[in-house]
Amino acid sequence: MIIKEFISQTNKNQMISILLKHYRVESVKVKQKSMKDHAHYNVDTGTLELSTRYKTIKTSQVKQFLITILHEINHAMDAKMFGWKKFKEKYEYEMNLQIANDKDEYKDNKYEIAAEEFGQKMWKFWKGKFKKDGLL
Ligand SMILES: [Zn+2]
Repeated sequence: MIIKEFISQTNKNQMISILLKHYRVESVKVKQKSMKDHAHYNVDTGTLELSTRYKTIKTSQVKQFLITILHEINHAMDAKMFGWKKFKEKYEYEMNLQIANDKDEYKDNKYEIAAEEFGQKMWKFWKGKFKKDGLL
């Protein structure tokens, strides 16, 4: 059995594109950026930022890659549903609410909790699907 050590850039980009289409967030602004995380949804600008730092990803990074992309896509879904400016307002309100309650503005933020649950819940399904499709 051959175990692939790296996922090619083409396959990586294809997985991202499949996910964006599946969750109907292709219309959300996307920007390529050099950064440590695989993806980041920028609430201030309504932009889904994708890292250019990893041309390929290691097989051992697939779980983190999928969780991160799904987490950020969940923010993009909220942004699409409310409109990104309205989502920015709601997100900031939530941060201030958590701060006022002496809680953590990210860790206790309902949008962050929902996005993380979404990533944790869905990554295995997508890993299986991408494996079957020969992308992993
Ligand atoms: Zn988040």
